[in-house]
Amino acid sequence: MYIYNIHITGSPTHRGNVRGKKIYFISGGPLKAGSNRVLFGLSEEFPLVSIVGLGKKNSESDPEEEVDENKEAIRKAVAAGCKSLKEFNLDEVVVDPCSDGCSAAEGASLSLFSYQELKQEKKSIPKLRCFEESDNSWLKGLTLGEGQNIARRLMEMPSNLLTPSNFAQEAVNYLEGLGVEVRVRTKEWAEKRNMNAFLTVAKGSEEPPIFLELIYKGTNSDDKPFAIVGKGITFDSGGISLKPSNNMDKMRADMGGAACTVGSIFTAASLKIPINIKGFIPLCENMPSGTAVKPGDVIVASNGKSIQVDNTDAEGRLILADALHYASQHKPRVMLDMATLTGAMAVALGAGATGVFSNSSTQFNLLHKAGYETGDRVWRMPLWKFYENQVKASSQMADMNNQSTKKPAGGAPFAAGFLKQFVTCDQWLHLDIAGVMENSDENKRERNT
Ligand SMILES: [Zn+2]
Repeated sequence: MYIYNIHITGSPTHRGNVRGKKIYFISGGPLKAGSNRVLFGLSEEFPLVSIVGLGKKNSESDPEEEVDENKEAIRKAVAAGCKSLKEFNLDEVVVDPCSDGCSAAEGASLSLFSYQELKQEKKSIPKLRCFEESDNSWLKGLTLGEGQNIARRLMEMPSNLLTPSNFAQEAVNYLEGLGVEVRVRTKEWAEKRNMNAFLTVAKGSEEPPIFLELIYKGTNSDDKPFAIVGKGITFDSGGISLKPSNNMDKMRADMGGAACTVGSIFTAASLKIPINIKGFIPLCENMPSGTAVKPGDVIVASNGKSIQVDNTDAEGRLILADALHYASQHKPRVMLDMATLTGAMAVALGAGATGVFSNSSTQFNLLHKAGYETGDRVWRMPLWKFYENQVKASSQMADMNNQSTKKPAGGAPFAAGFLKQFVTCDQWLHLDIAGVMENSDENKRERNT
């Protein structure tokens, strides 16, 4: 069955279809931006048509909103159109590219994502086709959506199925076919490198830890790589500093940074982006047991610095400490880490933006520009000595503490100041993605209803 999303831009048009115009007016006339209406029997070729409202054509984006509102309107409207057709169990949806195939394809692809592989009865996910000849822009949008949907799938998966070892297998499945090398490092490998901060978190669990290295070569091998580091806690119980049981199931997604790393490298390799990328993913569970790290324990990380672990639930920064130090040794030209790191970040910004801490205004401005174009907005947070000093002053026994004595105040910049102790790259971006980790009503193009 074929479906055609008419786009309504200012005045209603249906590509000269007078009957279509008539039915559009009878059925209620103009649609608000991002809303839609399903019409039946307009044409034989497209028996079901979802018309969507795009808002005013070519309206200027409000600079204070820090997003390309035209692109976002297309993503949201096409997503609303695709979602409205879900209940019809279609094999294929034909999408009007609305003059921006990339945004239309991305919105469509994100809106159709559903995690249903563990259900006996599955809804069919329709194939997407461009109403016009599909060009590079449309295909790029599909790939961008696919990369993000990979991250979403991995984050949805239950932790009994997505253990550190199984995550490694998933990375192999997604990436090796694209020519990305996946090196699966064992606990013994990490022991040889004195990754004690990482291993300390892992030792409370029966699941063996894994350290993944992903290598994508898009250009000359002498070109310095772009490093991506992702937090891969496949389940976070909090350890001995146990979390409340309410909503603890969501902690299966505490590997969101790792999932985004795989999704990003998948996308870069699919689009054959001409840069080199190295991915670094420490993977383990954070569990309470007789062998788990205890509050007040002190460990020495791979860079020789000692850490007092006062809160075993602040484990993300511990596994990232060794990963950032290891990644720094590869002399990347830029290093970016992603982590569902602090609840404080979610308190500060909600799902509106990712909090970004950086020692480089150049890199932050580039990321900010990318956020403007993609609708994934970022907001700069402070990486000041003020917070680094707190990291050091909070420990009586060691070089630093993983928990602030001022807690909960300033939890997100404290964590960033902690990570900075392990970074030697001067082009570093730390993305705290705790606030944007789940779908929310605030991101209409993404919510799966
Ligand atoms: Zn935690």
